Amino acid sequence: MENILSINNISKSYGPVRALNDVSFEVPPGSVFGILGPNGSGKTTLLGILLDVLQADAGTYSWFNNPASSESRRQIGSLLETPNFYHYLSAVDNLKIAAAIKQRGHNDINNVLEKVNLLQRKDSKFQTYSLGMKQRLAIASALLGNPRVLVFDEPTNGLDPAGIAEIRDLIRQLNSEGITIVMASHLLDEVEKVCTHVAILKRGQLLLSGPVNETLRSEDQIEVSAMNLDHLKQVIASMPGIKDIKPVNGSLLLSCDNNILPEQVNKYCIDNSIVLSHLAMKKKSLETKFMELTNN
Ligand code: ADP
Repeated sequence: MENILSINNISKSYGPVRALNDVSFEVPPGSVFGILGPNGSGKTTLLGILLDVLQADAGTYSWFNNPASSESRRQIGSLLETPNFYHYLSAVDNLKIAAAIKQRGHNDINNVLEKVNLLQRKDSKFQTYSLGMKQRLAIASALLGNPRVLVFDEPTNGLDPAGIAEIRDLIRQLNSEGITIVMASHLLDEVEKVCTHVAILKRGQLLLSGPVNETLRSEDQIEVSAMNLDHLKQVIASMPGIKDIKPVNGSLLLSCDNNILPEQVNKYCIDNSIVLSHLAMKKKSLETKFMELTNN
């Protein structure tokens, strides 16, 4: 199957700062792919390399399974920073200027305005637009030329809640029309809500990548206790599906496969002649998981 984007062992330093360290992952067609990480984790650097604005020190990447070319570049629309629109010009006139800069015709201006739901307001001056509308116009500009892929850096940064919701809806809608979207974000919540796939970066290092529902699944934990904690630990360690055992305040915190239920743990202990004095299900939030991943 054709990958939209393959990234192979990319590294980049700024002097002593290692911004990216041997990063590899693949973006499948039709995905909304989130590059997630705290500030300073290398997201913008990576997008800059992928869009040929920056050069990697090592590693390669390819769009559409082809070596980089001006032809493949024309199939990528990008929005790395807020474009400079003229405040006193209308949306249409601003897009005419953007089209001229990109050396594209005016034919699809109405079409892109319709896609971002600004056709009704196309003759209003930019300065009368809400923050969400301004960002939607920026996305319209990225859509000029009918790209197969859109690349966004922090697409909802600086927006109010209404603007954030507008952009999320738009990203989902564009994706449902067949456009693959690659977006950098430091917001777990945003990635969880709109992305189908995710790559998590921490200080330039790729921690995990894959489908959101596998990678960002919150993990349940089970807490157990018994008179003889050491013996309990020994017995539980032999139970299939138990991945990790951590002693916490006189109990054991078990990380297990997702289908393991507390009653199965209880039964296993009974079968091994252990009576539990405590058994509880602990929900681990995604935030906790993300924090654990990105802090040490
Ligand atoms: P993010 O987009 O995740 O916030 P960046 O790619 O902007 O991360 O930055 C990654 C690291 O590289 C950070 O430590 C940042 O300070 C450093 N960095 C980014 N751009 C430059 C630059 N032009 N010169 C020196 N260091 C930089």
